Amino acid sequence: MSVADASMIRFLLFAGGLILFLIIEAINPYRKSTVSKTDRWLSNISLAALNAVIINLIFAASIVYTISYVTANKLGILNIFELPYGIKILATVIAMDFVLYVWHLLNHEVMFLWRFHIVHHSDLNMDVTTATRFHIIELFFGSIIKIITIYIIGADLLGILIFESTVTLATQFHHSSLKIPGWFESVFWYLFVPPSMHRIHHSVVIKERNTNYGVIFSIWDRLIGTLLTKIHQDKIRIGVGAYTKQEKLKFLNLLVMPFKGSVR
Ligand SMILES: [Zn+2]
Repeated sequence: MSVADASMIRFLLFAGGLILFLIIEAINPYRKSTVSKTDRWLSNISLAALNAVIINLIFAASIVYTISYVTANKLGILNIFELPYGIKILATVIAMDFVLYVWHLLNHEVMFLWRFHIVHHSDLNMDVTTATRFHIIELFFGSIIKIITIYIIGADLLGILIFESTVTLATQFHHSSLKIPGWFESVFWYLFVPPSMHRIHHSVVIKERNTNYGVIFSIWDRLIGTLLTKIHQDKIRIGVGAYTKQEKLKFLNLLVMPFKGSVR
């Protein structure tokens, strides 16, 4: 599989997921918008387009090269053992998701990283487009960590493709404004991250925001003690206390946000 094939599969999944969740949100939204959807979507999709082009240009080839290098030279933890291929793929997804959990936690706890991650949390409503709202520098650092992790665990191409595709769909799902039956959420919550869990993470209340860091699995939050469940969902206000006005959250505002005064 070439770099172009892998990028195309990811793009098709991303676009398919985006359209699917937009349709379901339009039919059965969890909440009504409190600010202009057009304005938010313009900011979020502009960030997504910029990030997709630049991050792909810089990192797509180096990620695939790192995978080929570790596979050809049998480097990394997973290559020490003769594991069945299915187990190796599953271990790749679990290990990569754990590193993503730690990276997300650091984005909240380290002030320098929070300067960039705040762009994601500054969205005043949550829907599937929030899943694309990231500052490019956060993704730049995240991609470097991804390459180092691939090298250390000895991931292969299919494992990373499955992980990346699952992250894309999981992120779109848990940011989406969907009305989901309570019983489904509570079953899903045991192992994975439903929208209600991630909604708490997007609360303006700092104590609520600094919890529920999981991306695919909720097990890391359970094990490490960052899980928060008992919050009245209808009372959650989405966003960051310092940024309450949509007109100050346009594309260019978001690009320069990390370089302004630090905000908790
Ligand atoms: Zn966060």
